[in-house]
Amino acid sequence: AQKAQALLRVRDLTKSFNGLRAVDGISFDLHRGEVLSIIGPNGSGKSTTINLLSGFLEPDSGLIDIDDTAIAGRSAAEVAERGLARTFQNGRVFGSLTVRENIALGYHKKLGATRPLSALQNMPVLRWLSLLGETGAALFGGPAVKREEKDVAQRIEREVDYYRERLGSREDDATYTLSYANRRRTEIARAHISEPEILLLDEPTAGMNQSETAEVIQQLLYLKEQGHTILLVEHKMDLVAAVSDTVIAMDGGRIIASGDPDAVRTDPVVVEAYLGK
Ligand code: ADP
Ligand code: MG
Repeated sequence: AQKAQALLRVRDLTKSFNGLRAVDGISFDLHRGEVLSIIGPNGSGKSTTINLLSGFLEPDSGLIDIDDTAIAGRSAAEVAERGLARTFQNGRVFGSLTVRENIALGYHKKLGATRPLSALQNMPVLRWLSLLGETGAALFGGPAVKREEKDVAQRIEREVDYYRERLGSREDDATYTLSYANRRRTEIARAHISEPEILLLDEPTAGMNQSETAEVIQQLLYLKEQGHTILLVEHKMDLVAAVSDTVIAMDGGRIIASGDPDAVRTDPVVVEAYLGK
């Protein structure tokens, strides 16, 4: 049978910083509904890859196509418009906003809203949006759709509901008062509610303990069950085996192995790359 066409196609992607090849000619495909993970030791080029794919960095050369539209070199806002949402390695939520507001923000631009959603009525949302620049464009991008206000409220409530138990019913607390793990979880929820074609997650469990990591795995499995297409960047090899269909291992900006999670994880070349750091 013919393989379905890739949703994301990356070919010979290259990016150097002052002569250092951070990403050195990588190529891969991401198919609709697939969870693909990029693993590799620190400094292997994972975040740079995500930054190239999401328009936060411009490649020196190479192709990035989403659904046959060339996006290499386009701005973060334009890439978001094509349906790609991302989270950041260090986590970016608005600490003074509540969890519910942070999640609702992910839905705001999605709706092409010209006035604050009722869920956001009590916050100076427009001031926030104007301060956000490229990050804001990437967070709030995506093709606009029209929704009834009550459907909007229900959709936000559904997203909040899923996290209520895990968050200890703290959805109306300022996000800065939550644990680091819950702030990262809020960030993923905000990306998820924007209904992206592709969700890019940069080390969603960075800095988390084992039980927090396990909870994020549950969250990722939930997204996977819903059929989301996910590109996950992870330093922890054990974690990716639980959620990934395919794994790519990077070292020194290059792909050193790819395929089945367990095969890649136990590949001597990959083990060596990790041990060498
Ligand atoms: P990873 O996410 O796998 O840890 P990165 O993509 O962050 O790796 O980094 C890959 C390499 O590129 C590293 O050597 C890093 O120091 C370098 N690098 C990343 N971003 C920049 C930058 N903005 N300027 C200069 N060097 C960078
Ligand atoms: Mg990184």
